[in-house]
Amino acid sequence: MSDEPVRDEGFSDWIDAAEAGAASYLECPAGHGSLPPRRVCPVCGATELTEASLPQTGEVETFTVTHVPMPAFAEDAPYATAVARFGPVRLTGQIVDSDLGAIENGLAVELAITVSETTGERVIGFRPV
Ligand SMILES: [Zn+2]
Repeated sequence: MSDEPVRDEGFSDWIDAAEAGAASYLECPAGHGSLPPRRVCPVCGATELTEASLPQTGEVETFTVTHVPMPAFAEDAPYATAVARFGPVRLTGQIVDSDLGAIENGLAVELAITVSETTGERVIGFRPV
């Protein structure tokens, strides 16, 4: 099948672990965090990466509310996309199970893997805790 999407094995494995509540990240000797799969720290270029458990809760650093979505998301609009910090790692995802008016910088969230209605693929989501 030539139209088979390329499966990102490393990221799929990460999503599997995140769904099971066991998300991890890679940490370099300088303390920079990044998501697998990687062989080099994206900040300083270190190659000695060790795997660590992602903190259970993160904090919203910034967010954007989308009022005019693509048609596939019409039922969900408006919705919010946020950047949240989990320890040394920044993740981008969609906020789920939340009143948009309750979202603010500093909001505590947990990972909530959700399914994109546009692509049918699993994506990172955040649920307030
Ligand atoms: Zn580094």
